Parts: sequence; C-alpha cells; structure tokens
Amino acid sequence: GLKCGIVGLPNVGKSTLFNALTSAKALAANYPFATKDPNLGVITVPDERLDKLAELVSPQRIMPTTVDIVDIAGLIKGASKGEGLGNQFLGNIRETDAILHVVRCFEDDNVVHVDGSVDPVRDKMIIDTELILKDIETVEKKIEKFRRTAKSGDKESKRIVEVGEALLAHLESEKPARTFEAEEDDQAMVRELMLLTGKPILYVCNVDIDSIDDGNAHTEAFRAAVADEAAEVILISAGIEADIAELETKEERAEFIEEMGLTEPGVNKVIRASYSLLDLVTYFTAGEKEVRAWTIRKGTKAPGAAGVIHTDFEKGFIRAEVIHYPDYVAFGSESAARDNGKLNVEGKEYVVEDGDVMHFRFNV
Ligand code: GDP
Repeated sequence: GLKCGIVGLPNVGKSTLFNALTSAKALAANYPFATKDPNLGVITVPDERLDKLAELVSPQRIMPTTVDIVDIAGLIKGASKGEGLGNQFLGNIRETDAILHVVRCFEDDNVVHVDGSVDPVRDKMIIDTELILKDIETVEKKIEKFRRTAKSGDKESKRIVEVGEALLAHLESEKPARTFEAEEDDQAMVRELMLLTGKPILYVCNVDIDSIDDGNAHTEAFRAAVADEAAEVILISAGIEADIAELETKEERAEFIEEMGLTEPGVNKVIRASYSLLDLVTYFTAGEKEVRAWTIRKGTKAPGAAGVIHTDFEKGFIRAEVIHYPDYVAFGSESAARDNGKLNVEGKEYVVEDGDVMHFRFNV
C-alpha cells in the first residue's frame, strides 16, 4: 500500500495526530522520546460516495479504502550524525511515499519544547537540516561512484556527475531537493536517488482551537517561510482531534465537532490533502456482499487497478465493466445503469477515473 510518514521534532504532537488519524493507541506522553519505535498505522479514508453506494446496494459489508501511516519519532538536531535515535528513523523516511511534517504552533507551558520556545520556522529548519545532510551524503556517494568513468569520457557518467554537483550545490545552500529543478532528461536520475527532501510534503501546523480558522503569528511566519516550496500547509489542533477520535459514536462526534465550531474533523483535511499529495484516486466495487473503495495512483489502467484487489485479477484480466459514479447514482443500480447504456465495457488500455464503479472479468 501507499505510505505516509509523520515527521517533526519531539513534543510537537506527532503521536497525538497519529492516534487521531488511526484511532490506534500509541503512547502520547509529555516528554521527548515517548514514541521510541516507529508506529505503523492504517488510516481509513472517509468518502461520502462510498456511503451513497452502500445506501443504494445495501451490502453485507462496507469497506473504506486505506493509506498506511508511520509515526517517525526521534528526529532531533544531530540525528544525521547519529544523535538521539540516530540513523534508525532515516530508513523509515526513505520507505515512505510522502511526508507529513508536523510543526508546533500552539503555546502551552505544560508541554516542554525541546528547544525552549515555540518557533515552527526554526523547528522546520532543524528537521530539514538533518534530512539535507543525509541527502548530501547520498549525492556525494553517487558522484564518487561515477567520477572515474566520467573522467575517461563516458557521456552518461559525465552527466550524472554534472547534475549531481548542481544538486549538491542546491542542498549545500540549505534547500530541499524538492525545489531543485532538473532538466526533463535528468529527472529519472534524481528520482532514483530517493532523496529524503525530495519526497512530496504536506505541512501540518498544530494549533490551539482558537487558531484553527485564521491561524496565529506562528502559522503566519511558517507560511511565509515555506512559500517557495509550493507545498500545502494545513492547520489542525491535534489535541482536539484526539478528543474527537475518543468519542464512541458518530452522533457524539458530530455534536462535539459542532460545539467546537468546526465543520468536520481536521483529520479529514489531513487525509484529503495526503490523498492529493500522493496523486491518488479511488474506484469502487459494488456487490451484495461488499461495497468497497480501492486506492490507485492517478493514471492507472484497468488491469493495474484490478491487481490492487488480487494479482490474479491483473494476470487474467479480460475486460472491465465500468459505470461512472454520477451515472450509477443517477440510475440507482448496476442493472438500471446498464439498461440506460451507461455500463461501458473497457479493455486493457482504459485509464480508471476517480469514482468509477468497476466490475472486472478475468480468467483464472
Ligand atoms: P510527539 O513527541 O511529537 O509525538 O508529541 P505528542 O503527540 O506526544 O505530544 C506531546 C505533548 O503535547 C502531549 O502532552 C500532548 O498532549 C500535547 N499536545 C499535542 N497536541 C496538542 C495541542 O494541539 N494542544 C496542546 N495544548 N497540547 C498538545
């Protein structure tokens, strides 16, 4: 599955957010390093379309789609040189498809700040610096590997060294790899380096309830500092999210959300933003046994989409019967959509659209 990693300094609210996102019971305590091991969790993606389809089909089961999430703790100043929990977390970051970077933008004297004061811009720099240092190591290694063949005239090696050196200069000026503009022909090479600061990123400002709508001085400073990154910045209160997640029933949660003056749980904002960050789309299967949402990358063709359900579906793919979501809802059922000419038979080259209701035909 696709995986998001949560990073940030200790005590900014990572595990509180992680718990709210996954409703798992990780340890959130008021001291650094409370979260020693990376916590793996699963986020279920809320989707009104799934609820609507379930209403129409009345299946035995309703299965939302999921994204994996890992809470990466232990990131502090000096981490790239083995401080704190050392290099352990870096491998965890490398394995992720996208990063949620949480910064503390709330004041609370009861919550210790590892660097003594609330300053999200400085905090982000600390994390970036550690990741950039690690990336510099990675790029230097790459350059070293190709230097000799480049010197003896190998064109491809020369190019790798050239691009590597430009990238190195970029990183050394304390800029993340994601703002490095590589020529089209060089992009694959840069991607292959799997740089930590090259991953898509979403910034999450953890604020007090009063600052959720309009932000505060900390979030303003933070927005200004990341303006050139073209990354999304969202504001949530992890503490409130944890409170929401603890409520047992849908009704209780709805009531509490309204009392707090919110329109929806902040975790929904995070999930939506992560989804678009990862360039994902959802398709559905709708049968009497189960109505289910599935996650694929945008641009996936029908056989690949089938493969998410089972590899046999992909191997033995014959065709897909597709009803676009608005048609399904307009006619109210598969058979009614078919009778009205809205069931399309598609082959191997069909690119699945967001919301498609799919039925795969395959050989076993
Ligand atoms: P982590 O080390 O980044 O995983 O941080 P935690 O999630 O463990 O949170 C550290 C402390 O900050 C805990 O005592 C939390 O209860 C508290 N905390 C987290 N989010 C908020 C928030 O939005 N507001 C306030 N006031 N405290 C929070």
